Amino acid sequence: MTITPEFIAKIPKTDLHVHLDGSLRLPTLIALARERGVKLPAYDEAGLYRKVFRKKYANLNEYLEGFAYTTAVLQTAAALERVGYELAQDNQAEGVRYIEVRFAPQLHQNANLTCIEAMAALNRGLGRAKYEFNGRPAVRSGAEPPFEYGIIACAMRMFDYGFSEYYDTLLRALAHSGRKEVFSLASQELVRAAVEARTRLKLPIVGFDLAGAEAGFPAEDHIQAYALAHKHFMNKTVHAGEAYGPESIFQAITDLHADRLGHAVYLFDADMIKSPEIKDKKAYVANLVQYVAERRITIEVCLTSNLQTNPAIRRLSDHSFGLMRKAKLSATFCTDNRTVSQTTVSAEILKAVRAFRITPHELKNFIIYGFKRSFFPGSYIKKRAYTHQIIDYYERIEKDNLKA
Ligand SMILES: [Zn+2]
Repeated sequence: MTITPEFIAKIPKTDLHVHLDGSLRLPTLIALARERGVKLPAYDEAGLYRKVFRKKYANLNEYLEGFAYTTAVLQTAAALERVGYELAQDNQAEGVRYIEVRFAPQLHQNANLTCIEAMAALNRGLGRAKYEFNGRPAVRSGAEPPFEYGIIACAMRMFDYGFSEYYDTLLRALAHSGRKEVFSLASQELVRAAVEARTRLKLPIVGFDLAGAEAGFPAEDHIQAYALAHKHFMNKTVHAGEAYGPESIFQAITDLHADRLGHAVYLFDADMIKSPEIKDKKAYVANLVQYVAERRITIEVCLTSNLQTNPAIRRLSDHSFGLMRKAKLSATFCTDNRTVSQTTVSAEILKAVRAFRITPHELKNFIIYGFKRSFFPGSYIKKRAYTHQIIDYYERIEKDNLKA
């Protein structure tokens, strides 16, 4: 059996790492910018692709520039609800059955919109798309698995004046405190809001993450927020995409209690180890990989995005996913940002299949990991039942594919 684009389109898929503000439909970005009077470098899709959302970027910071426009238009509950709804629909249209949408509520917080209102608005949009999709006869009869989702609340690793009204206010109020201290307070505040949204409003806030520029802003600055999330049984993931090597990944898993890792591109790079205490770097990496493998810490692999922000990775086949696969790590394919990276879940899978010659058996495992290692917003019993329904559906598609 060969894995064709048609097969990839049919199988149930997940996206466990997708940023709301990096995945807006461009016509929506343009419409919202006009509504709110936000200045864009272009008001047509071709112009925006040329000037902002490019195929290639020099580094992560350049990659992040487009987010200033998307967050500027997402300052109302109505806008958040709309993009949440559209993002879920775009995923449903390509056969993605489960998504975990992440966003930084504090980037959308202002005098007229609280952190919890921002989360509730996104949830309304996602919920409406779920309700519509699951109302179709094929899902209601049980012939097809339903669409499900969760929301991951991201704190910002760093922020400055101009990032959002909320951050401006916070920076002004704490003008005499060190920046690291302010970042830490903001992320702790977000965890508290997320816990409240989950318990009081029953919103499916399923996890906590850190987003934004990495270089110079280590995750350890947010150790208290992670401890707080851990204490409240909130799932945790940590971006380790650009600037962070094996030691930081170890720290993410141990000190920050990460259940999953975003990217972990440099997991195998002994040269990136800085601590003089680690004498045998090769052994350290081998032990770390063993640790990640044993605990089934799942890596959210974002191939296109990694190539765009790490120019050192020239070809897809040079990406460390090849080593992750060889080490039999738990990994799942994700988009990171559908618009900023100009990609889809299906495109990511197809790229991986072609570059690494993934077998049908392996692909099935990677897909199922996505469901199994999700931060599913329901009981473990329900999650298991859902995953079994997904596996049955997948196997039916496999059989049909063999017959065809
Ligand atoms: Zn990301």
